[in-house]
Amino acid sequence: MGRSVLVTGGNRGIGLAIARGLAEAGHQVAVTHRGSGAPEGLFGVQADVTDSEQVDAAFKQVEEHQGPVEVVVSNAGITDDTLLMRMSEDQFTRVVDANLTGAYRVAKRASRGMLRGKWGRFIFIASVVGLSGGAGQVNYAASKAGLVGMARSLARELGSRNITANVVAPGFIVTDMTDALTEDQRTAALNQIPAGRYGETADIAAAVRFLASDEAGYINGAVLPVDGGLGMGH
Ligand code: NDP
Repeated sequence: MGRSVLVTGGNRGIGLAIARGLAEAGHQVAVTHRGSGAPEGLFGVQADVTDSEQVDAAFKQVEEHQGPVEVVVSNAGITDDTLLMRMSEDQFTRVVDANLTGAYRVAKRASRGMLRGKWGRFIFIASVVGLSGGAGQVNYAASKAGLVGMARSLARELGSRNITANVVAPGFIVTDMTDALTEDQRTAALNQIPAGRYGETADIAAAVRFLASDEAGYINGAVLPVDGGLGMGH
């Protein structure tokens, strides 16, 4: 059955692949963007997840277009890497505000409709780094680890209402985000990946598609690594 889906940051990168994958699976998919406009064939709403009024306005538009949001994919995220010694408080809070507090804003707004509809799927896009840590990523890793605690708390709060909350933890996926890394950083990462290749956005989209499905209804509070084995053991 087709569900009403919202993917934050679904205008490009991993979010866009997730949105396209869910649309192919027969769902009604809306994406947020911050001014780039909607990708072809998808319903777009403008919203910055650091602003709860924009989040609320986006949900209202999506609800009018395709009904209450039943599947939320919290994908919007940023990095601002530097070693702790040089990391300003602003660099720390800005990343946490977008990646973690943003996910809270979206989850809170979505929960109303899910509770009323007695069905829901929260899917948070975290990172292998949230589990293993990453030098130069104190802000980013903390925000991604926070998503695990958030999802598991939601699983406990809402699990009896047919609502699940799970985390996908991507490894190294080829997007603008990883294009920004140096050649040395990319090679170092590749050497650590048992699969011997970088991930594709389609690898993440496939996992999300499964978690959003009716068949995944008994999976709750899980962290699903999609990383070619990079983070094994965490
Ligand atoms: P990109 O940098 O390619 O895309 C980031 C997306 O997030 C864009 O759509 C961007 O919108 C959106 N975004 C950023 N900040 C905000 C905000 N405040 N409000 C709304 N939207 C926002 O990243 P990826 O596609 O690579 O990453 C997607 C997610 O996957 C992120 O959460 C990232 O942390 C995570 N991830 C990525 C990995 C990788 O290897 N690529 C590995 C592990 C996790 P806009 O176009 O307006 O900038």
